[in-house]
Amino acid sequence: MVRADDCDMRHLAIVRAAFVRATGVLRQLDDAIMPLRCVFCGTRLRQTEGRICGGCNRDLPWIGNACARCAEPVAVELPSAVHCAACQKREPLVEMTVTPLLYEFPVDAGLKALKFGRRLYYAPAFGELLLAQMPRLPRDLDALLPVPLHWRRQAFRGFNQAVELCKPLARRHGLPIIRSVVRRRATPYQSGLTAVLRRKNLRRAFVARNRLLFRHVLIVDDVVTTGETTRQLAATLIESGVRKVSVLAVARAV
Ligand SMILES: [Zn+2]
Ligand SMILES: [Zn+2]
Repeated sequence: MVRADDCDMRHLAIVRAAFVRATGVLRQLDDAIMPLRCVFCGTRLRQTEGRICGGCNRDLPWIGNACARCAEPVAVELPSAVHCAACQKREPLVEMTVTPLLYEFPVDAGLKALKFGRRLYYAPAFGELLLAQMPRLPRDLDALLPVPLHWRRQAFRGFNQAVELCKPLARRHGLPIIRSVVRRRATPYQSGLTAVLRRKNLRRAFVARNRLLFRHVLIVDDVVTTGETTRQLAATLIESGVRKVSVLAVARAV
């Protein structure tokens, strides 16, 4: 004869087994859909940790002191109104440039994997990293401009990494993304060119399709090298009606 509490226990065991199986399946599904792993070392992360683990975050090549106008690393902290020798010689068009990291391993490898290897999971990781830099930037920003790719390069790549980097900023700060500025010439890759050649290469490379009546636009890019791309873009924005321009990029190549 089967007692009532035996029956209850059996039911409980069946329900528990079903629950364990279901949570196991859910965990596998979660792993498959949202593999929350550190983009650099692959360690599984908790929801609260973002996309880069604490260890990798500590080891990233963070820039200490830098010129506020162009983000060039400097040996000692400069007073806020004092800028580096290069900025004193040729005044930048931008109010401020923030690039938290040096373009060194593993940042360079991650950005190349994103751009050339279509490893799109790097975009939200670097995007979150940029989001954390927003308190360093002026408060009056009212639009974002991802550095445009020439349409042919964008069609080949399938996406613009700067647009992907902008997405978390646009979402969190409610800022519009400007889409009406285009690159009118497919400029050759800038890497390996001298500053003078870069300047020549980029002259009149961008055009705004309409007047842009923004107070302060934030140009967003993956890496700033000589600052020539952002300078040309800032000139186009200012000619089109924008009052002030600043720059935010993941890394600074020196
Ligand atoms: Zn890691
Ligand atoms: Zn400078």
